Amino acid sequence: MERSMVPSFEEALERAYPKIEWRLPIRMAAPQGTGLGCRFCIARYGIKAHEIPALPQTIAEFHAHMKTFHPIRASL
Ligand SMILES: [Zn+2]
Repeated sequence: MERSMVPSFEEALERAYPKIEWRLPIRMAAPQGTGLGCRFCIARYGIKAHEIPALPQTIAEFHAHMKTFHPIRASL
């Protein structure tokens, strides 16, 4: 199988759970602080309360995270 035909982690999740809005943030709060959680990262790594303050704090930061870590592959 060609490498390009293997779905990425993100594509596999989006196909398996199409009703989840994977590319929208989840607002998260813990006693230590708040942040915008990334569904892909949470699905892959999980998250602990002490990590929440280190999450993106603004939509712009969240979009930068998406662009860097979960870019949409051009599939032609
Ligand atoms: Zn992420």
